[in-house]
Amino acid sequence: MNKRFERHLLIPDWNQAQLSNATVIIVGMGALGNEVARILAMAGVGKLIICDPDIIETSNLSRMTFFRPQHVGQLKVDMASQALQDLYPEIIIEKRPQFLIHGIGLAELRDASLVIGCLDSQAARLQLAGRCQLVQARYIDGGTHPWGGEVRMYLDPNGPCFGCGLSPEKRAIVDEPWSCLDQNDNLPEAAAIPSSALTGTWMGMMAVRLLMNLDCPDGTIKIDSVRGTSTIVKQQKDPNCTLHHPIPLEKVQKLNISVTDTFGALTKSLPEQAVPLSWSPIQTSLYCSKCKHSQKKWGMPSNEKCPKCDALIHPRTTLEIKDVPDNITLETLGIAPCEIIAVREENGLTWFELCDVFNV
Ligand SMILES: [Zn+2]
Ligand SMILES: [Zn+2]
Repeated sequence: MNKRFERHLLIPDWNQAQLSNATVIIVGMGALGNEVARILAMAGVGKLIICDPDIIETSNLSRMTFFRPQHVGQLKVDMASQALQDLYPEIIIEKRPQFLIHGIGLAELRDASLVIGCLDSQAARLQLAGRCQLVQARYIDGGTHPWGGEVRMYLDPNGPCFGCGLSPEKRAIVDEPWSCLDQNDNLPEAAAIPSSALTGTWMGMMAVRLLMNLDCPDGTIKIDSVRGTSTIVKQQKDPNCTLHHPIPLEKVQKLNISVTDTFGALTKSLPEQAVPLSWSPIQTSLYCSKCKHSQKKWGMPSNEKCPKCDALIHPRTTLEIKDVPDNITLETLGIAPCEIIAVREENGLTWFELCDVFNV
């Protein structure tokens, strides 16, 4: 056994091998993500997949333990990965500088030992909940408030999810950059390092125990530093929550196609007339409502200026992956690696899994 971990072995029930065999997905590399990743790496978790599209800003430096002034402008996942590798050189890190839906495929969520949400918007948490529910992945979701935080444990795939606690209106919110946002929803959250560190440490503790198959509370841990308490609150499953329609995982068929392959290669490997569906909108073209300029442009939706009149133009999108030029890669369309793709066929939906292999 590695001398690095010899003190761990003195802890009753500690199982270092189980940690080193684990793969944990951390969605969000902000203040909470930094804390959770640090704890898991130092505890000896074998592999982390870290996902965050953002770059480091100066206002991050007061709360995010891995980032330094000279990192401003760099990707969070790049700098976090370097720091984690320094902390624990044997760790395997995979970086996904994308939004969750483009960065981490459903098969990866299905296969992970644990998924951890370190997100700062309700819409992003909902998306994580929806993706995890699809493949019945267990996950922990954390959030902070000015003087404490919450750790929500979603360990029973048939139990409640994050969406269950929300009203139907709130459940419908999305925060993709191309959607029409209410400016008030865009204000930064109040946050400081004591709350992030406190909440992140609870998340790290729960994660380590879960990975070693030790008992954990199932519910929401509410951490209140004003009272000096932490309490567990049971969550209720909402029978009207729309997020509980898992994919029949036993029916998923593996394809010999990866995200770097083209749409042409995908259609060749599917039955004729089958229409693959995307989990998030794919941009087909740009259309200017001011001057009527339009152009085909396949890819992830973007907000661009009209080349003719300079007005902001919105993308036209589709969820059907068809009529795409054959040479466009699945990656370009925003399909995540190891994605499970729903395919519409004559007799209903079938399911296909992309096989991406990562060489680290
Ligand atoms: Zn639910
Ligand atoms: Zn125009």
